[in-house]
Amino acid sequence: MTDKLIATPSRTNEIMKKYNLKTKKSLGQNFITDPNILEKIVTTAQLDKFTNVVEVGPGIGGLTEILAQHSKKVLAYELDQRLLPVLADTLQQYDNITVLHQDVLQAHLAKDFAENFEAGPVKVVANLPYYITTPIMMHFLESDVEVAQLVVMMQKEVAERITAKPNSKAYGSLSIAVQYFMDAQIAFIVPKTVFVPQPNVDSAILSLEKRSEPLVSVVDEKQFFKLVKGAFQLRRKTLWNNLLSMYGKDEAVRTWLTEALQTAEIDPIRRGESLSIEDFARLSNALVNSKL
Ligand code: SAM
Repeated sequence: MTDKLIATPSRTNEIMKKYNLKTKKSLGQNFITDPNILEKIVTTAQLDKFTNVVEVGPGIGGLTEILAQHSKKVLAYELDQRLLPVLADTLQQYDNITVLHQDVLQAHLAKDFAENFEAGPVKVVANLPYYITTPIMMHFLESDVEVAQLVVMMQKEVAERITAKPNSKAYGSLSIAVQYFMDAQIAFIVPKTVFVPQPNVDSAILSLEKRSEPLVSVVDEKQFFKLVKGAFQLRRKTLWNNLLSMYGKDEAVRTWLTEALQTAEIDPIRRGESLSIEDFARLSNALVNSKL
């Protein structure tokens, strides 16, 4: 047992040597070695001793340790079996951590929450494996569990795409898919130099809170997301051309599209990237409401 934090360069090095641990790129393994960043994550997540935390991918336990110190209970999902004995060792002094050997995408969240958490809100705080950032966020969003806030580290570029506004290069269907359901803010940027091994790009901490109602009122969500995806299919094409590729080119379709665009007051020669979420909602509702 040692009092030195896991997420320091020297202790991380020591642990990796002791267990002869080679990180797996395929599992997105980049361990944080900077306690200041971890403190900033805890502050962003506004943790306290009444709050339960879910962590995805504890790795060797650097973030897990700080989460345990600042919250009521930590439930961590780790896919890499080799890390289980390491975590049992590095986190042995904490009695409020449960590590499950489990792919988080396959996890039955409602059941795990019920078995591991008593009263109190649940927050997701994690340095995500970058190859599955979006599926993990969607898994928490779409399952029937209450998550008060997600504070997650991801590639800076992905965080910028998620929070992007219209008329920017980063704006696209991912921005709309996330902003429709959640209020998303970049809390701060994390330089690649604080990780072992060092990734190729910088990271960002994103704070997300689920909205009580979606950002815009949509008659048919499936149709709305189909429209959004299609409008960004070929970014350089006009909205009109993307709509024709999506719905077909015959005369009846052209009339239907023209009428819907008029109702929504959207110029067909605009590009998808200039449409706000409100614009997409108006157009999608007009398409549903007018008959083909
Ligand atoms: N939390 C540690 C840290 O910040 O130093 C490690 C973060 S590392 C970026 C991502 C972790 O997620 C790795 O430990 C990896 O093994 C784990 N992981 C990858 N895919 C996973 C999955 N599908 N389910 C659960 N954990 C996964």
